[in-house]
Amino acid sequence: MNTITHVPVGRFAPSPTGRMHLGNLLTALVSWLSVRSRGGNWILRIEDLDPQRSKADYARQIEEDLLWLGLDWDEGGLADRGEAGPYSQSRRGELYEAALGRLRDAGLVYPCRCTRADLNATQAPHASDGRTLYTGRCRPEGLPRQVDWGDGRSSVRLYVGDEPEVEFTDGVFGRQRVSLQCECGDYVVRRADGAWAYQLAVVVDDALMGVTEVVRGCDLLGSAAQQIALHRVLGYEPPEYVHLPLVCNAAGQRLSKRDPQMALDALRSRYTAREIIGMLGRLAGINPTGEPCTPEDLLQRFTLSAIPRVESVTCG
Ligand code: GLU
Repeated sequence: MNTITHVPVGRFAPSPTGRMHLGNLLTALVSWLSVRSRGGNWILRIEDLDPQRSKADYARQIEEDLLWLGLDWDEGGLADRGEAGPYSQSRRGELYEAALGRLRDAGLVYPCRCTRADLNATQAPHASDGRTLYTGRCRPEGLPRQVDWGDGRSSVRLYVGDEPEVEFTDGVFGRQRVSLQCECGDYVVRRADGAWAYQLAVVVDDALMGVTEVVRGCDLLGSAAQQIALHRVLGYEPPEYVHLPLVCNAAGQRLSKRDPQMALDALRSRYTAREIIGMLGRLAGINPTGEPCTPEDLLQRFTLSAIPRVESVTCG
């Protein structure tokens, strides 16, 4: 029997909207360790879908900070190294368009003309992360959906109605069962202003870049089921998901890119790269004393099972 072995492929997918903080770095380190400890490849993808908030200078700074810490990537980045580029989402519109075309041909998406006021009136904030449950106000009857796309200036929603519960096992938080119907309803894959929704872009990118493992903060655990469903309707194999505790400051507040104390420029003036990696290793459960070290030093000790299964961990 032939055994096909796949090299693990991980990715770090920062939004260049500010200087990174320890939470972003924990994600980067764990993703890097997880694939590199298994001989895999690590991709750096720039998630600059939001033109107002994304800045090329932040992307350059992210690269510089990762290299300063000793986290090097095999593919991607601003230099677009690799076969699956471009590696910046702002330049991948044609790929998202093609995926949307497939969903349209399959009758799985429809235009939603709800205004913000309509949505506020018909849907209630649902989850603690502010997600809302869409009631299906614009959903056409019957399949395949004969849809009038009109002037194209409406948002586009993916029909999730017939999807059974999505089940998956998160690498830290374990078994998950999510009913998309109850959790979010039909969700937006393209916004009315033409911007691509994160959910569509991230699925197309993870699939076309051959990503086998997604590591990120547990604020995105609620998105994983939506992404798995989208992988499946597009005919892709979903990756494994690993969600990490969010890093909080000593006052118990989640770190923010807007908090100058915790941004990497402030940290770099106080700590060496080895000290920061040592702290991150402690947060990941593999460097109990927090002693300074390099990412390579942690490769041997890395195991997902050491990561605390809690929603937040405290630094400092
Ligand atoms: N771009 C997102 C962020 O910076 C991460 C998305 C993901 O990893 O799926 O928070």
